[in-house]
Amino acid sequence: MTFVVGLTGGIGSGKSTVARRFEALGACIVDTDAIAHALTAAGGEAIAALREAFGDAYLTAEGALDRPRMRARVFADPQAKQQLEAILHPRIRARAEEAMARSRGPYVVLVVPLLLETGAYAQRVDRILVVDCPEELQIRRTMLRSGLDEAAVKSILATQISRAARLARADDVIDNSGPEEALGPQVDALHRKYLELAGAGQPARNL
Ligand code: ATP
Repeated sequence: MTFVVGLTGGIGSGKSTVARRFEALGACIVDTDAIAHALTAAGGEAIAALREAFGDAYLTAEGALDRPRMRARVFADPQAKQQLEAILHPRIRARAEEAMARSRGPYVVLVVPLLLETGAYAQRVDRILVVDCPEELQIRRTMLRSGLDEAAVKSILATQISRAARLARADDVIDNSGPEEALGPQVDALHRKYLELAGAGQPARNL
């Protein structure tokens, strides 16, 4: 079975940025957030079930999930949140498993933003890699990228586990408090470690 590194971190910590660097080194990236976006884009696999559960009110004119509207709804309505998750989570999991089964890389980096909050992939990952930076930076970078205001970013942060709790669960940590270039040597070192752990770095026996 492929060696799986679960990559997680709080909002705006730099998960996608780090994942791209692993990909450039030859790792196979399976990103559950990207899968969720594909499932809920116009014509996506989850749209029919979403329409059935919530009606057209949460779909855009093009037929994609209206994410800001749905986000507001589930913030205020735990039952709707459960319903949304019951539609999305099994589908995301199935697509992620398929992608991992197709993997050709020496190991898989499975990006799961809420890996530690939900526990759903706890048994599936061989190792937990946390991308870490101070909360002020998470907030600033998320605001710059998304256009969300500070209050909105902070309310999302409040639903995630604390930085300390996340770090306590990490097998490996990437420090993303510096410039992006500082990621290179950290990702290189972890790539070598994961190749070794996955067995791909071992010289062939009986030569
Ligand atoms: P989300 O949880 O919102 O999906 P994420 O954890 O995947 O975010 P990224 O999308 O990689 O985080 O990074 C968030 C933003 O911060 C992006 O615009 C990215 O380009 C920027 N960023 C990431 N790392 C750095 C860095 N070291 N210095 C400056 N900007 C950075």
